Amino acid sequence: MERISWDQYFMSQSTLLALRSTCERLAVGATIVRDKRVIAGGYNGSPSGSVHCIDEGCKVVDGHCVRTIHAEVNAILQCAKFGVETEGAEMYVTHFPCLNCCKTIIQSGIQKIFYAHDYKNNPYAIELLNEAGVQFEKVELDYLHIDTNTKDKLYFIASLIEKLETNGVDEEEIKELKLKANQLFTFAD
Ligand SMILES: [Zn+2]
Ligand SMILES: [Zn+2]
Repeated sequence: MERISWDQYFMSQSTLLALRSTCERLAVGATIVRDKRVIAGGYNGSPSGSVHCIDEGCKVVDGHCVRTIHAEVNAILQCAKFGVETEGAEMYVTHFPCLNCCKTIIQSGIQKIFYAHDYKNNPYAIELLNEAGVQFEKVELDYLHIDTNTKDKLYFIASLIEKLETNGVDEEEIKELKLKANQLFTFAD
């Protein structure tokens, strides 16, 4: 069994958190880490006590849903609520943070952002991160490490396709099967 890296572990946690999102427009998860320990996590959702976008529909103003607090801010506010220091911490977030979140992250003292997907990467936000000396790095999730059976499944399907190929199944059909298998086992953006 291959051991999962810290990057993959924390990004997996953010990916799971994103599944708790209550906004239909984009599901984002963020995990704050200090010394390889999770100190807080958040997903994008309504303020406590308010209705959820998934129940009532998004509250859209100027093309943005204004109901939700972004995952990154929720995670930082969790630290504020419980008195946990964010200075020098790192954040793992599923999508590149928006301008407001980048400003909040800078101000919280977080030193590094790991993100899985590019998302409208704001040039001014990047400028601010650089000025503040906050590093950012793309860490894509390697799902093969999460579903420990995935490799076995992939090899099994590959061997089945190979058998079909040697038994004279139509070339076009084989091509389609291979394409389908590739789609199932790769996770592009
Ligand atoms: Zn919404
Ligand atoms: Zn944001």
